[in-house]
Amino acid sequence: MTDVFYAKKNVRFFIVMISALLGFVIAVASATIVIKLKKNERYMDEKRDISHLVWTLDTVFEGSFSTIERFSDKKCDEHMLTDMRDAVESSPYVRSLGLIDNSGNMVCSTSRGMHFIPSVQLTHPIADILKKMNAGNVARAELSLIDGTHIVPNKKAIVLFGLYPSGIGLGTIDASLIARNLMSRSHDAVKAYLVISGKKMNAQGETFPDTFTDGGIEIQSLKYPYKIRIERAGSGDFVVILTAFTIFMISGLLAFFFIYQYTNRFLSMSRCLAYALRTGRITADVQPVFMMENRKPVGIEVLARWILDDERRISPSDFITDAEQSGDINNIAEHLITLIATKIDNGELALQEGFKVGFNIHPSHFRSKSLIGLCELFTAKVNRFGVRMVLELTERGELEKDDEMLLIIKMIKSLGVELAIDDFGASNSGLRYLSDGIFGCIKIDRSFLEEASVDKQTGIVLQNSVALAHQLGKDIVVEGIENDSQLKMLRKAFPAYGLMIQGYLWSKPFSVNAFNAWYSCQEIAKRKYFMMKK
Ligand code: C2E
Ligand code: CA
Ligand code: CA
Repeated sequence: MTDVFYAKKNVRFFIVMISALLGFVIAVASATIVIKLKKNERYMDEKRDISHLVWTLDTVFEGSFSTIERFSDKKCDEHMLTDMRDAVESSPYVRSLGLIDNSGNMVCSTSRGMHFIPSVQLTHPIADILKKMNAGNVARAELSLIDGTHIVPNKKAIVLFGLYPSGIGLGTIDASLIARNLMSRSHDAVKAYLVISGKKMNAQGETFPDTFTDGGIEIQSLKYPYKIRIERAGSGDFVVILTAFTIFMISGLLAFFFIYQYTNRFLSMSRCLAYALRTGRITADVQPVFMMENRKPVGIEVLARWILDDERRISPSDFITDAEQSGDINNIAEHLITLIATKIDNGELALQEGFKVGFNIHPSHFRSKSLIGLCELFTAKVNRFGVRMVLELTERGELEKDDEMLLIIKMIKSLGVELAIDDFGASNSGLRYLSDGIFGCIKIDRSFLEEASVDKQTGIVLQNSVALAHQLGKDIVVEGIENDSQLKMLRKAFPAYGLMIQGYLWSKPFSVNAFNAWYSCQEIAKRKYFMMKK
């Protein structure tokens, strides 16, 4: 016998690989979604943050420029200097104010008083602004980020230049203070920079050349020449990737686990069935089929039984579906055919000439040449007793006929094996098989009979199906006859159709030994006593 478990090892490997692949796909999909959502959420947060920062800085610069403007058209004298110094004192960010006349000379400053400094002696950043002014491309408001002056030593400063009719008003503000107060939301993963004239300053007040960086968000102020940029250090993305990867792994493992569990359950059922077959725990009961007119037993149907070690029996209704799904169903048929053939061959099951032995065969089995081998085996062992083999096509699956299958059926029939349509009138009615001449018998399902007894329309369909099958020369077995009224009804409806019946009314399924005892005793008794009377 084929060892199903080992045959299934490849299937198992295949299923596990498919599970892993599915897990991987789910994981990649969830990781992508997480990254997308995170990025979107981060983008919105950061955009809101820097918009707010730009608005705050614009307000700071606006206040500082209006302080500068207040003194831009005034003559530098002691009085004005005092006012300028008071303004510096009262401003939170401005540290110095100064004035440059239209010729570019420094004429007044809060730090040097009325000291005149000719334009040629002025250095960066004033010299740069003067150059721009001479070139005619200076804006009304300019900013310059510089290293600390003597006014803000060891710190950074932003110099504000306002262009007025009387010259240039300038103010120095404490850039480090701005950095500390306004940009402190920066942290390891997210760095905010104030970008002015080719330099950028971080929250610690450190400045760097403004090299191009990708992946950040920046907003340019609409009022003054500066930008705020948020740059994300690699570690930020690392956190996102790590999160995504974790979700990737967890979802992948979960998918793997569930699919593995499912296939494991499925495959362990297959393994258990294989074990039960190997150890003879799958065995056969047989249920007689009688001629309706005279209660003569004319056949049996072989029914699978799974017997547990504690002798409890599992009904085929419970395990046949699993066996069909796992492909073990055909091994069960193989086992039962071999078992019954052996029992008839060695006399454990003594049947009269012309007796029919029916086996339930799944449609998939009709695609396998092994079924021919089984029929050969059976007929070789039982032909000398005149016993006929019947294959009942169980209607749970479709029988899709093609040339290969028709050839298999032809070879089976050439061995004298008959085919029957099982469960006729149940969900997959089997009506379409009636006309094709392959099947010599129909077995009318219990449910069909039950429905016909309560529903007039179904009654008509049953009546006509039986008449049609009879006209086509088919044997007709009615299954599931449990009581006298059913029998009466059948006898009334189909008096002359040579109907056979199978059901609890005349016999429940027997174990093979019990059947043999019952059947042979009946035959011996009939022979002895009826023959004696004659
Ligand atoms: P089935 O082929 O229609 O077999 C007849 C079923 O009806 C059997 O149930 C039988 O015990 C039951 N039966 C017979 N007379 C009566 C009755 O008067 N009343 C009621 N309520 N039931 C009756 P079982 O043995 O439980 O088998 C159930 C089904 O399992 C079978 O239905 C058949 O489709 C499947 N099966 C059983 N053995 C095999 C097998 O070896 N191979 C395959 N492929 N299927 C099998
Ligand atoms: Ca059957
Ligand atoms: Ca049936």
